[in-house]
Amino acid sequence: MAGPSVGEVMGRVLRIQGMSVRGVQMRPGGLVVQVRPRQRKPRCGVCGRPAPGYDTKPGRLWRHLALGETIFWLRYAPRRVRCREHGVRVERVPWAAHGSSFTHAFEELVAWQAQRLDKSSICRLLGINWRTVGTIIERLVEERLSPGRLEGLQVIGVDELGWRAGHQYVSLVVDHLRSRVVWVAEGRAKRRSTASSTSWERRGRRS
Ligand SMILES: [Zn+2]
Repeated sequence: MAGPSVGEVMGRVLRIQGMSVRGVQMRPGGLVVQVRPRQRKPRCGVCGRPAPGYDTKPGRLWRHLALGETIFWLRYAPRRVRCREHGVRVERVPWAAHGSSFTHAFEELVAWQAQRLDKSSICRLLGINWRTVGTIIERLVEERLSPGRLEGLQVIGVDELGWRAGHQYVSLVVDHLRSRVVWVAEGRAKRRSTASSTSWERRGRRS
């Protein structure tokens, strides 16, 4: 009785919609899964509209989640398209945001941890630097800004996340009652009145 192929098993394990698995390779840095978007016609990475192909970029990797100590990487050679509105752009892939080297699932994990853990724990757990964490959070917040997010705020926290020995900062405003980030920007938060406490730094110092 023939069982499912390794590719089929990996497809079920990864469970990323719109993506098919073509092969799997074990590498020193983890498991590299060769993938491709299911859609035959490429779409513009910016607007998502179908666009004529332009050329193909060299193969590259996206960091995905880990199973135990084994990191899953997705490998694909993305096409570039000529979008009527945006010009020549890398195509949209279903597993990652435009311009990101991490999968959606990995970015979700970072964002989830960023609301619960101190920065050094996240960096240690995921093996990424703090700047990367800041970039991921910034992108996710921007993507999901809802106009109502600033309504009914009662308990907020202002957190500053620093990297490069305190030369670079990202400032976050967190809605503590709903446990989510409602605002984010590059640079230091201005310390004023009730916004003077930085729960992030307090937590960071304890660890
Ligand atoms: Zn476009």
